[in-house]
Amino acid sequence: MITEYRFCPICASPLALRSELEDAGLTERLRCPACDFTHWNNPTPVLAAIVELDGHVLLARNAAWQHRMMGLITGFMEAGETPEQGIAREIGEETGLSVSALALVGVHDFQRMNQVIITYHAVAHGEVRLSPELAEYRLLRPEQVKCWRAGTGLALADWLRSRGHEPVFMEWASAAEPSAPAPDDGAGQPGLHPSAPPGQAA
Ligand SMILES: [Zn+2]
Repeated sequence: MITEYRFCPICASPLALRSELEDAGLTERLRCPACDFTHWNNPTPVLAAIVELDGHVLLARNAAWQHRMMGLITGFMEAGETPEQGIAREIGEETGLSVSALALVGVHDFQRMNQVIITYHAVAHGEVRLSPELAEYRLLRPEQVKCWRAGTGLALADWLRSRGHEPVFMEWASAAEPSAPAPDDGAGQPGLHPSAPPGQAA
C-alpha cells in the first residue's frame, strides 16, 4: 500500500501539491507552503544478494509473504555504510552466513515500490541460521533457478547468463505478483520445487 506524506517534516504545516519550475520544467510535487520543503519522493536504495553457498544459490521466503515464492536476500541500505558493507550485513543478519567475496551484478529499477535495487553475487560460508524474518530457504543449482521479470529477477537472469545458463522465467509470476512486502523487490520462486527465491520478487 502506498501512503503519502501529509505534513512537512520540518515545520509540520500541511503539504500541498504545487507546481514549480525545476530543471526539467514545471513540476507538480508535494511541497510545504510555509517553509518551501519539497517532498522529492526519490527511490529508496535496496540491496540484494545472489548468495552462493557450496556452488548452490540460496533462495529464501520472507515470513511476511502470503505466496510461496522464494527470492533473493534483500534489505534496505542504511546510513553510514557502503553498499558492500550493507549487503554483507544483511546476509549475516538474515542467514547467519559470512561473505568472502562480493561482485556487483547490476542495478535495476523497481518502480512499483519506488526502489532502486543494487544486486550483488555473494560467495558465502558457514551454516544457515535463518532470521525470524525468513520462513524457509532452498539451495538450488544455478540451472534449477527460475527467474521473474522484475527487479531482482532480472538481476538473477543477468547473473545466470554470465555463468553460461540461459535463464528460465516463471511466466505466471507477473500475474500472481505478490503484494510486495518491503523491501522486497517482488522476487520469488514458488515452493513447488526446490528452486527459486521468495516469489523471486523485486
Ligand atoms: Zn514546512
